[in-house]
Amino acid sequence: MTTVADHRVVIIGSGPAGLTAALYAARANLKPLLVEGLEAGGQLMLTTMVENWPGYRDGIMGPDLMAEMRAQALRFGTEALEGNVTAVDLRQRPFSLVLDSTRRITTDALIIATGASARWLELGSDRKLAGHGVSTCATCDGYFFRGKPIAVIGGGDSAMEEAIYLTKFASKVTVVHRRDALRASKIMQDKAFANPKIEFVWDSEVVEVKDVGRGEVTGIVVRNVKTGQTRELPLDGVFIAIGHTPNTALFKGQLELDANGYIVTRQGTRTSVPGVFAAGDVQDHVYRQAVTAAGSGCMAAIDAERYLEGMPEHAEAIGAPRSVEAREGVRPR
Ligand code: NAP
Repeated sequence: MTTVADHRVVIIGSGPAGLTAALYAARANLKPLLVEGLEAGGQLMLTTMVENWPGYRDGIMGPDLMAEMRAQALRFGTEALEGNVTAVDLRQRPFSLVLDSTRRITTDALIIATGASARWLELGSDRKLAGHGVSTCATCDGYFFRGKPIAVIGGGDSAMEEAIYLTKFASKVTVVHRRDALRASKIMQDKAFANPKIEFVWDSEVVEVKDVGRGEVTGIVVRNVKTGQTRELPLDGVFIAIGHTPNTALFKGQLELDANGYIVTRQGTRTSVPGVFAAGDVQDHVYRQAVTAAGSGCMAAIDAERYLEGMPEHAEAIGAPRSVEAREGVRPR
Protein backbone atom coordinates (compact mmCIF):
# COMPACT_ATOMS: atom_id res chain seq x y z
CA MET A 1 0.00 0.00 0.00
CA THR A 2 1.44 3.41 -0.94
CA THR A 3 1.03 6.64 0.95
CA VAL A 4 -0.75 8.94 -1.46
CA ALA A 5 -1.07 12.28 0.24
CA ASP A 6 -0.01 14.26 3.20
CA HIS A 7 -2.45 16.65 4.86
CA ARG A 8 -2.52 19.17 7.64
CA VAL A 9 -6.09 18.34 8.67
CA VAL A 10 -8.28 15.40 7.75
CA ILE A 11 -11.91 15.30 8.79
CA ILE A 12 -13.72 11.96 8.91
CA GLY A 13 -17.49 12.21 8.49
CA SER A 14 -19.70 14.61 6.58
CA GLY A 15 -22.70 15.35 8.77
CA PRO A 16 -23.24 18.81 10.32
CA ALA A 17 -20.16 18.41 12.56
CA GLY A 18 -17.79 17.30 9.79
CA LEU A 19 -19.01 19.85 7.26
CA THR A 20 -18.81 22.73 9.73
CA ALA A 21 -15.31 21.64 10.74
CA ALA A 22 -14.41 21.55 7.03
CA LEU A 23 -15.85 25.03 6.47
CA TYR A 24 -13.84 26.53 9.33
CA ALA A 25 -10.64 24.64 8.53
CA ALA A 26 -10.90 25.65 4.86
CA ARG A 27 -11.43 29.29 5.79
CA ALA A 28 -8.35 29.01 8.02
CA ASN A 29 -6.42 28.02 4.86
CA LEU A 30 -5.70 24.52 6.10
CA LYS A 31 -6.99 22.89 2.88
CA PRO A 32 -8.79 20.15 4.78
CA LEU A 33 -9.49 16.75 3.33
CA LEU A 34 -13.01 15.59 4.14
CA VAL A 35 -13.54 11.84 3.97
CA GLU A 36 -17.28 11.66 3.49
CA GLY A 37 -17.91 8.11 4.68
CA LEU A 38 -20.46 5.48 3.74
CA GLU A 39 -23.39 7.53 5.01
CA ALA A 40 -22.40 10.85 3.45
CA GLY A 41 -24.35 13.76 4.91
CA GLY A 42 -25.10 11.84 8.10
CA GLN A 43 -28.42 11.40 9.80
CA LEU A 44 -30.04 14.53 8.36
CA MET A 45 -30.05 12.74 5.00
CA LEU A 46 -32.67 10.45 6.51
CA THR A 47 -35.01 13.18 7.72
CA THR A 48 -37.60 15.33 6.03
CA MET A 49 -38.34 18.82 7.35
CA VAL A 50 -35.88 20.24 9.88
CA GLU A 51 -37.63 22.97 11.83
CA ASN A 52 -35.05 23.69 14.50
CA TRP A 53 -32.09 24.78 12.37
CA PRO A 54 -31.75 28.49 13.14
CA GLY A 55 -32.32 30.86 10.28
CA TYR A 56 -34.93 28.85 8.41
CA ARG A 57 -38.23 30.23 9.66
CA ASP A 58 -40.26 27.76 7.60
CA GLY A 59 -37.84 24.84 8.00
CA ILE A 60 -35.57 23.18 5.45
CA MET A 61 -35.44 19.60 4.17
CA GLY A 62 -32.58 17.65 5.80
CA PRO A 63 -30.89 16.59 2.51
CA ASP A 64 -31.16 20.17 1.16
CA LEU A 65 -29.50 21.54 4.28
CA MET A 66 -26.64 19.06 3.95
CA ALA A 67 -26.20 19.85 0.24
CA GLU A 68 -25.92 23.57 1.11
CA MET A 69 -23.43 22.90 3.91
CA ARG A 70 -21.31 20.71 1.65
CA ALA A 71 -21.28 23.28 -1.17
CA GLN A 72 -20.28 25.98 1.34
CA ALA A 73 -17.38 23.88 2.68
CA LEU A 74 -16.19 23.11 -0.87
CA ARG A 75 -16.42 26.76 -1.91
CA PHE A 76 -13.64 27.63 0.54
CA GLY A 77 -11.27 24.90 -0.58
CA THR A 78 -12.28 21.70 1.19
CA GLU A 79 -11.26 18.62 -0.76
CA ALA A 80 -14.06 16.07 -0.43
CA LEU A 81 -13.36 12.41 -0.93
CA GLU A 82 -16.06 9.79 -1.39
CA GLY A 83 -14.98 6.78 0.57
CA ASN A 84 -14.55 5.27 3.94
CA VAL A 85 -11.73 5.15 6.46
CA THR A 86 -11.06 1.49 7.22
CA ALA A 87 -8.11 1.80 9.63
CA VAL A 88 -6.30 4.50 11.60
CA ASP A 89 -2.99 4.68 13.40
CA LEU A 90 -2.98 7.43 16.01
CA ARG A 91 0.11 6.14 17.80
CA GLN A 92 2.60 7.79 15.47
CA ARG A 93 2.96 11.25 13.93
CA PRO A 94 1.80 12.10 11.41
CA PHE A 95 -1.36 10.08 11.97
CA SER A 96 -2.12 7.63 9.22
CA LEU A 97 -5.45 6.57 7.79
CA VAL A 98 -6.30 3.79 5.36
CA LEU A 99 -9.04 4.57 2.84
CA ASP A 100 -11.26 1.75 1.59
CA SER A 101 -8.48 -0.70 2.56
CA THR A 102 -6.46 0.39 -0.48
CA ARG A 103 -4.61 3.63 0.09
CA ARG A 104 -2.96 5.31 3.00
CA ILE A 105 -2.97 9.04 3.76
CA THR A 106 -1.27 10.93 6.54
CA THR A 107 -2.26 13.99 8.49
CA ASP A 108 -0.91 16.26 11.23
CA ALA A 109 -4.30 16.78 12.83
CA LEU A 110 -7.45 14.71 12.71
CA ILE A 111 -11.07 15.67 13.34
CA ILE A 112 -13.40 12.76 13.97
CA ALA A 113 -17.04 13.43 13.13
CA THR A 114 -18.25 9.93 12.38
CA GLY A 115 -21.57 10.34 14.16
CA ALA A 116 -23.75 7.56 15.44
CA SER A 117 -25.83 4.85 13.76
CA ALA A 118 -29.33 3.58 14.44
CA ARG A 119 -29.64 0.78 16.98
CA TRP A 120 -31.39 -2.51 16.36
CA LEU A 121 -33.39 -4.59 18.80
CA GLU A 122 -30.92 -7.46 18.26
CA LEU A 123 -33.60 -10.16 18.34
CA GLY A 124 -32.17 -11.86 15.30
CA SER A 125 -35.53 -11.64 13.57
CA ASP A 126 -35.34 -7.82 13.30
CA ARG A 127 -32.07 -7.76 11.36
CA LYS A 128 -33.10 -10.80 9.32
CA LEU A 129 -36.21 -8.95 8.13
CA ALA A 130 -34.46 -5.63 7.49
CA GLY A 131 -35.75 -4.34 4.18
CA HIS A 132 -38.62 -6.85 4.35
CA GLY A 133 -40.83 -4.91 6.70
CA VAL A 134 -38.28 -3.88 9.33
CA SER A 135 -36.68 -0.45 8.98
CA THR A 136 -34.73 2.13 10.98
CA CYS A 137 -35.67 4.99 8.66
CA ALA A 138 -39.26 6.16 8.35
CA THR A 139 -38.52 8.75 5.70
CA CYS A 140 -36.75 6.15 3.56
CA ASP A 141 -39.31 3.38 3.82
CA GLY A 142 -42.62 4.85 5.01
CA TYR A 143 -43.93 5.08 1.47
CA PHE A 144 -43.98 1.28 1.18
CA PHE A 145 -46.60 0.96 3.90
CA ARG A 146 -49.50 2.86 2.38
CA GLY A 147 -52.79 1.73 3.92
CA LYS A 148 -51.03 -0.85 6.13
CA PRO A 149 -50.77 -1.20 9.92
CA ILE A 150 -47.27 -0.74 11.32
CA ALA A 151 -45.45 -0.36 14.65
CA VAL A 152 -42.83 2.10 15.86
CA ILE A 153 -40.60 0.90 18.67
CA GLY A 154 -39.27 3.44 21.19
CA GLY A 155 -40.40 6.36 23.32
CA GLY A 156 -38.00 9.18 22.39
CA ASP A 157 -38.25 12.12 20.01
CA SER A 158 -37.19 9.97 17.06
CA ALA A 159 -39.96 7.46 17.73
CA MET A 160 -42.59 10.20 18.00
CA GLU A 161 -41.31 11.97 14.90
CA GLU A 162 -41.35 8.72 12.93
CA ALA A 163 -44.77 7.71 14.24
CA ILE A 164 -46.28 11.07 13.27
CA TYR A 165 -44.61 11.01 9.87
CA LEU A 166 -45.74 7.44 9.20
CA THR A 167 -49.41 8.30 9.79
CA LYS A 168 -49.23 9.92 6.34
CA PHE A 169 -48.99 6.44 4.83
CA ALA A 170 -50.01 3.77 7.33
CA SER A 171 -53.59 2.85 8.24
CA LYS A 172 -52.57 2.72 11.90
CA VAL A 173 -49.34 3.27 13.84
CA THR A 174 -48.82 1.41 17.11
CA VAL A 175 -46.06 2.82 19.29
CA VAL A 176 -44.56 0.11 21.49
CA HIS A 177 -42.64 1.51 24.45
CA ARG A 178 -40.92 -0.39 27.25
CA ARG A 179 -42.08 2.02 29.97
CA ASP A 180 -45.33 3.84 30.80
CA ALA A 181 -43.93 7.32 30.12
CA LEU A 182 -42.32 8.74 27.01
CA ARG A 183 -38.82 10.15 26.92
CA ALA A 184 -39.76 12.46 24.03
CA SER A 185 -40.06 16.24 24.46
CA LYS A 186 -43.44 17.61 25.56
CA ILE A 187 -44.22 19.13 22.18
CA MET A 188 -43.62 15.82 20.37
CA GLN A 189 -45.64 13.90 22.95
CA ASP A 190 -48.57 16.28 22.55
CA LYS A 191 -48.46 15.93 18.77
CA ALA A 192 -48.37 12.13 18.99
CA PHE A 193 -51.15 11.90 21.59
CA ALA A 194 -53.34 14.19 19.47
CA ASN A 195 -52.91 12.06 16.34
CA PRO A 196 -55.94 9.75 15.94
CA LYS A 197 -53.96 7.22 13.90
CA ILE A 198 -51.42 6.60 16.69
CA GLU A 199 -52.03 4.04 19.46
CA PHE A 200 -49.71 3.24 22.34
CA VAL A 201 -48.77 -0.11 23.83
CA TRP A 202 -47.08 0.70 27.14
CA ASP A 203 -44.69 -1.26 29.35
CA SER A 204 -43.97 -3.62 26.51
CA GLU A 205 -40.95 -4.98 24.71
CA VAL A 206 -40.80 -6.70 21.38
CA VAL A 207 -39.67 -10.30 21.76
CA GLU A 208 -40.02 -11.39 18.15
CA VAL A 209 -40.69 -10.07 14.69
CA LYS A 210 -42.83 -12.64 12.84
CA ASP A 211 -42.82 -13.52 9.18
CA VAL A 212 -44.44 -16.97 9.32
CA GLY A 213 -41.90 -18.17 6.80
CA ARG A 214 -42.94 -15.84 4.02
CA GLY A 215 -39.93 -13.51 4.33
CA GLU A 216 -42.04 -10.39 4.97
CA VAL A 217 -43.17 -9.07 8.33
CA THR A 218 -46.58 -10.33 9.44
CA GLY A 219 -46.56 -9.16 13.05
CA ILE A 220 -44.67 -8.70 16.28
CA VAL A 221 -44.85 -10.50 19.59
CA VAL A 222 -44.80 -8.09 22.54
CA ARG A 223 -44.35 -8.92 26.19
CA ASN A 224 -45.75 -6.78 28.96
CA VAL A 225 -42.80 -6.25 31.29
CA LYS A 226 -45.06 -5.83 34.32
CA THR A 227 -47.37 -8.83 33.84
CA GLY A 228 -45.11 -11.02 31.73
CA GLN A 229 -47.99 -11.64 29.31
CA THR A 230 -47.19 -11.90 25.62
CA ARG A 231 -49.45 -11.23 22.66
CA GLU A 232 -49.08 -10.92 18.93
CA LEU A 233 -49.89 -7.74 17.02
CA PRO A 234 -50.54 -8.42 13.35
CA LEU A 235 -48.95 -5.74 11.17
CA ASP A 236 -46.88 -5.23 8.02
CA GLY A 237 -44.04 -3.00 9.14
CA VAL A 238 -41.80 -2.31 12.13
CA PHE A 239 -39.82 0.90 12.50
CA ILE A 240 -37.14 0.74 15.15
CA ALA A 241 -36.35 4.10 16.77
CA ILE A 242 -34.51 3.21 19.96
CA GLY A 243 -31.50 5.46 19.71
CA HIS A 244 -28.03 5.26 18.26
CA THR A 245 -24.59 3.76 18.73
CA PRO A 246 -21.51 5.96 18.21
CA ASN A 247 -19.34 5.03 15.23
CA THR A 248 -16.10 4.55 17.12
CA ALA A 249 -15.03 0.98 16.30
CA LEU A 250 -12.02 2.33 14.38
CA PHE A 251 -10.68 4.13 17.43
CA LYS A 252 -11.04 1.45 20.12
CA GLY A 253 -7.79 1.01 21.97
CA GLN A 254 -6.33 4.22 20.55
CA LEU A 255 -8.61 6.90 22.02
CA GLU A 256 -10.34 7.10 25.38
CA LEU A 257 -13.98 6.07 24.97
CA ASP A 258 -16.70 6.13 27.62
CA ALA A 259 -18.66 3.09 28.78
CA ASN A 260 -21.12 3.50 25.88
CA GLY A 261 -18.38 3.84 23.29
CA TYR A 262 -18.57 7.63 22.83
CA ILE A 263 -15.25 9.46 22.40
CA VAL A 264 -14.34 11.33 25.56
CA THR A 265 -13.62 15.01 24.89
CA ARG A 266 -12.38 17.59 27.34
CA GLN A 267 -11.51 21.28 27.12
CA GLY A 268 -13.44 21.78 23.93
CA THR A 269 -13.05 18.96 21.43
CA ARG A 270 -9.72 17.53 22.56
CA THR A 271 -9.47 13.76 22.82
CA SER A 272 -6.96 11.69 24.77
CA VAL A 273 -4.47 12.01 21.88
CA PRO A 274 -3.09 15.51 21.19
CA GLY A 275 -3.92 16.54 17.64
CA VAL A 276 -7.03 14.37 17.45
CA PHE A 277 -10.34 16.17 17.96
CA ALA A 278 -13.90 14.87 18.00
CA ALA A 279 -17.12 16.67 17.16
CA GLY A 280 -20.83 15.90 16.89
CA ASP A 281 -22.74 12.80 17.90
CA VAL A 282 -19.63 10.63 18.09
CA GLN A 283 -18.76 12.44 21.34
CA ASP A 284 -22.15 13.77 22.45
CA HIS A 285 -24.86 11.56 23.89
CA VAL A 286 -26.60 14.44 25.63
CA TYR A 287 -27.65 17.11 23.13
CA ARG A 288 -27.36 15.26 19.80
CA GLN A 289 -28.83 18.08 17.74
CA ALA A 290 -27.73 19.13 14.27
CA VAL A 291 -27.00 22.61 15.54
CA THR A 292 -24.91 21.43 18.50
CA ALA A 293 -23.02 19.04 16.21
CA ALA A 294 -22.28 21.94 13.86
CA GLY A 295 -21.16 24.07 16.82
CA SER A 296 -18.73 21.43 18.00
CA GLY A 297 -17.46 21.00 14.41
CA CYS A 298 -16.55 24.68 14.46
CA MET A 299 -14.81 24.22 17.81
CA ALA A 300 -12.85 21.21 16.50
CA ALA A 301 -11.55 23.19 13.51
CA ILE A 302 -10.44 26.05 15.77
CA ASP A 303 -8.83 23.57 18.18
CA ALA A 304 -7.02 21.85 15.28
CA GLU A 305 -5.81 25.17 13.94
CA ARG A 306 -4.41 26.15 17.34
CA TYR A 307 -2.81 22.76 17.74
CA LEU A 308 -1.10 23.11 14.36
CA GLU A 309 0.13 26.55 15.33
CA GLY A 310 1.82 24.85 18.28
CA MET A 311 -0.22 26.53 20.98
CA PRO A 312 1.19 25.26 24.29
CA GLU A 313 -2.14 24.17 25.79
CA HIS A 314 -2.58 21.77 22.89
CA ALA A 315 0.85 20.21 23.15
CA GLU A 316 -0.01 17.98 26.06
CA ALA A 317 -2.40 15.10 26.32
CA ILE A 318 -5.34 15.51 28.68
CA GLY A 319 -5.14 12.93 31.39
CA ALA A 320 -2.55 10.94 29.46
CA PRO A 321 1.26 10.70 29.58
CA ARG A 322 3.25 13.43 27.88
CA SER A 323 3.84 12.34 24.29
CA VAL A 324 6.85 12.57 21.99
CA GLU A 325 4.87 15.07 19.94
CA ALA A 326 4.26 17.22 22.98
CA ARG A 327 7.97 17.33 23.74
CA GLU A 328 9.08 17.99 20.20
CA GLY A 329 6.27 20.18 18.97
CA VAL A 330 4.24 19.79 15.82
CA ARG A 331 6.14 18.87 12.67
CA PRO A 332 6.89 22.10 10.77
CA ARG A 333 5.64 22.54 7.19
P1 NAP B 1 -33.44 8.52 22.77
O1 NAP B 1 -33.88 9.86 23.23
O2 NAP B 1 -32.26 7.88 23.38
O3 NAP B 1 -34.69 7.54 22.95
C1 NAP B 1 -34.58 6.18 22.70
C2 NAP B 1 -35.88 5.52 23.10
O4 NAP B 1 -35.80 4.12 22.78
C3 NAP B 1 -36.18 5.63 24.60
O5 NAP B 1 -37.55 5.85 24.79
C4 NAP B 1 -35.74 4.25 25.12
O6 NAP B 1 -36.51 3.81 26.21
C5 NAP B 1 -36.02 3.34 23.96
N1 NAP B 1 -35.10 2.21 23.91
C6 NAP B 1 -33.75 2.22 23.98
N2 NAP B 1 -33.25 0.97 23.86
C7 NAP B 1 -34.31 0.16 23.72
C8 NAP B 1 -34.45 -1.23 23.56
N3 NAP B 1 -33.39 -2.06 23.49
N4 NAP B 1 -35.69 -1.75 23.45
C9 NAP B 1 -36.77 -0.93 23.50
N5 NAP B 1 -36.71 0.40 23.65
C10 NAP B 1 -35.49 0.94 23.76
O7 NAP B 1 -33.15 8.49 21.20
P2 NAP B 1 -33.85 9.33 20.03
O8 NAP B 1 -35.31 9.34 20.14
O9 NAP B 1 -33.23 8.77 18.80
O10 NAP B 1 -33.33 10.81 20.25
C11 NAP B 1 -31.94 11.09 20.32
C12 NAP B 1 -31.71 12.59 20.50
O11 NAP B 1 -32.09 13.29 19.31
C13 NAP B 1 -32.51 13.20 21.64
O12 NAP B 1 -31.72 14.19 22.23
C14 NAP B 1 -33.69 13.83 20.95
O13 NAP B 1 -34.22 14.92 21.66
C15 NAP B 1 -33.07 14.26 19.62
N6 NAP B 1 -34.10 14.30 18.57
C16 NAP B 1 -34.79 15.47 18.41
C17 NAP B 1 -35.79 15.55 17.46
C18 NAP B 1 -36.54 16.83 17.30
O14 NAP B 1 -36.27 17.77 18.03
N7 NAP B 1 -37.47 16.93 16.37
C19 NAP B 1 -36.10 14.45 16.67
C20 NAP B 1 -35.38 13.27 16.85
C21 NAP B 1 -34.40 13.20 17.83
P3 NAP B 1 -36.42 4.54 27.64
O15 NAP B 1 -37.18 5.82 27.50
O16 NAP B 1 -37.07 3.56 28.55
O17 NAP B 1 -34.97 4.72 27.89
